[in-house]
Amino acid sequence: MDNSNFKKPILMSEYKKIINTSTINCKSINNNNNNNNSLNRKRKRTDGRESPLTIESDDHNGSDKPRVKYGELVILGYNGFLPQGDRGRRRSKFVLYKRSQHNGVKRSKHYIVQSPETTHAILDTNQHSISYTLSRNQAVIVEYQEDDNTDMFQVGRSSEPPIDFVVMDTLPGDKKDSKVMQSTISRFACRILVERNGAHRARIFAAGFDSSRNIFLGEKATKWQDSIEMDGLTTNGVLIMHPKGKFYGGNAKCGLWRETTLNGDVFSLRESRSAQQKGQPIKEESNILQDGTLIDLCGATLLWRSAEGLQNSPTKRDLEKLVDEINAGRPQCPVGLNTLVIPRKVTLGEHVNQPYVYLNCGHVQGHHDWGQDKTGARKCPMCLELSPVVHLCMGIEPAFYVDSGQPTYAFNPCGHMATEKTVKYWANVDIPHGTNGFQAVCPFCATPLSGSPGYVKLIFQDNLD
Ligand SMILES: [Zn+2]
Ligand SMILES: [Zn+2]
Repeated sequence: MDNSNFKKPILMSEYKKIINTSTINCKSINNNNNNNNSLNRKRKRTDGRESPLTIESDDHNGSDKPRVKYGELVILGYNGFLPQGDRGRRRSKFVLYKRSQHNGVKRSKHYIVQSPETTHAILDTNQHSISYTLSRNQAVIVEYQEDDNTDMFQVGRSSEPPIDFVVMDTLPGDKKDSKVMQSTISRFACRILVERNGAHRARIFAAGFDSSRNIFLGEKATKWQDSIEMDGLTTNGVLIMHPKGKFYGGNAKCGLWRETTLNGDVFSLRESRSAQQKGQPIKEESNILQDGTLIDLCGATLLWRSAEGLQNSPTKRDLEKLVDEINAGRPQCPVGLNTLVIPRKVTLGEHVNQPYVYLNCGHVQGHHDWGQDKTGARKCPMCLELSPVVHLCMGIEPAFYVDSGQPTYAFNPCGHMATEKTVKYWANVDIPHGTNGFQAVCPFCATPLSGSPGYVKLIFQDNLD
């Protein structure tokens, strides 16, 4: 088989676009940092307020022909960009475009070998293969062949070339600059194959091919033979959750979390994340991604938005316009009587115009010391309820929105604003947490929601003069 085309770095043209865009982003962030560094190294919140304007230049690949977009993978917990800036294949979201040259693969033959290390398929770095180790001296090799109907995209922690989208562990809220000592995300976590023609269906599979185009499943990994085909699970697994109902529109409900196998079959969850025993096969469900499907890689959760679903969604510009509209209404602090401004860029220190929300009642006010007791709790001057307060800040990543409209709600406790339906949707979605638990989080910063219902309706006082 001639794989010379296969190995070509066909992504370069695509990456160049991405890199160009991100250079601009990095530059503005660096400038920002230079100004800040000398003043203080105080940890600053990394949210949409410092968002550099994204230049949406990636709709064309140098020619006038628009590129076919399959969809987007968006990491939960980032509000439009990584805190250190989007760079190359490390970014907060990855757009899947139709490749100029197909690079998908499909299963072909399989056979048993005594020593996989010396098997031709493993040694041949042009040959995609999966090696299932059965015992010290027995392995099943499954060879994969070129599939001219699909494009393949790989996701994982590795920065090696076969990984298109490099994903690191996501820490909630403002802990994002802390170091993760031990990552639970696999270096070659998963692969997604998208049909190049027709409906562009995207299927997800556990594990990705490494630089030698191999996947090794060790002796201890969970594996089995299903009639004639070998299949298996990766250590921490790849979990998927298809929402029940249409994601866009705001009427979908959280579905059940499942696990997908190396072959793309769907199973119920294991007892615990990396248990040896696989779950039950769920024949009636598939690994085809639908708009709003969540993919959990144990340490980071990705949201799949189909190109079709995104067509109805607000754009970043739409969301920025909404912020402008609220500011144009000149909301007022009922205590300081000053006009509040929802910022789009980071501001140093406490600004009188920075709006705060009282998380128990939703009253929006400026910075003041009224009603603050020794413990730091504050009594809201409007309703006299004791409540924690937090900066109000726009959720600016459009992919997380389930509808369009005014951002009249905010998540508790982080203060990210979004539409009512968006906030209510995410407050009811369970995200895998650690090895055995689930929790609802703010999609813009990954902070676990607190209290019930985990959000608050905002009450602005309009400027009366
Ligand atoms: Zn109040
Ligand atoms: Zn948040």
